[in-house]
Amino acid sequence: MAIQGDFREHKQMLKELGVEAVEVRLPRDLEGLAGLIVPGGESTTIGMLAREYGLEGAVRERVREGSLAVWGTCAGAIWLAREIPEFPDQPRLGVLNIAVQRNAYGRQVDSFEEDLEILGFERPFHAFFIRAPRILKVGDDVRVLAKHQNEAVLVQSGKLLAGTFHPELSEDTRVHQLFLQLSSNALVAK
Ligand code: GLN
Repeated sequence: MAIQGDFREHKQMLKELGVEAVEVRLPRDLEGLAGLIVPGGESTTIGMLAREYGLEGAVRERVREGSLAVWGTCAGAIWLAREIPEFPDQPRLGVLNIAVQRNAYGRQVDSFEEDLEILGFERPFHAFFIRAPRILKVGDDVRVLAKHQNEAVLVQSGKLLAGTFHPELSEDTRVHQLFLQLSSNALVAK
C-alpha cells in the first residue's frame, strides 16, 4: 500500500525474494493481488487517505472473501487493529481482533532494537522498533508469534499478519517470506 510510509523498502525486500510488487493506491490496483503490505509511517494519514481513496472498503471486502492476505507493520498494524482505545474514531480497516496503543513506549525509548524469538524461526530475528505501538490485547482467534517483554509484537489470524517492528529495515527477509506463504495460501483458498 503506497499511500504514505516506507513502502519502497518493502518493495525492495520483495524484489530480493524475486517478487515484483505493485504499488497500491486505488481499489483497482488490488486486482489480481494475493497479498497487501501496509507499511509503517503515520497511521492517521494512512487511515484518512485509504478511506478517501476507497481502499479501506475494497480491502475489507477482499479480506471478508478470504482472497487477500494483509500484513501491517507498525502504523500498518494500527490500521488493521479492531480497537484503538485512546482514538476510537481513527479511520482504519479494523479487521484484526487486537487492541493497540499508539506511540506506547514513551519518549526515552521511542526507538529500540531487540533480538526476537519468532515462532517457527530457527534463529532470533533482529527487530527495529520505531515509535512502535503496543498490542494491549489479542483476541482468542489471534496467534502470538513473537513477544517483547512478555507482550505480543507479531501476531497472526488467518491471512492477517501484524507486527509492531520494521522487518523491511533489516537485511533479514524471513518475515517477508512468512507473509508470502500466507499470501499464496490466500490464492489457493480462492
Ligand atoms: N507512531 C506511528 C503512528 O501511530 C507509527 C510509527 C511507525 O509506523 N513507525 O502512526
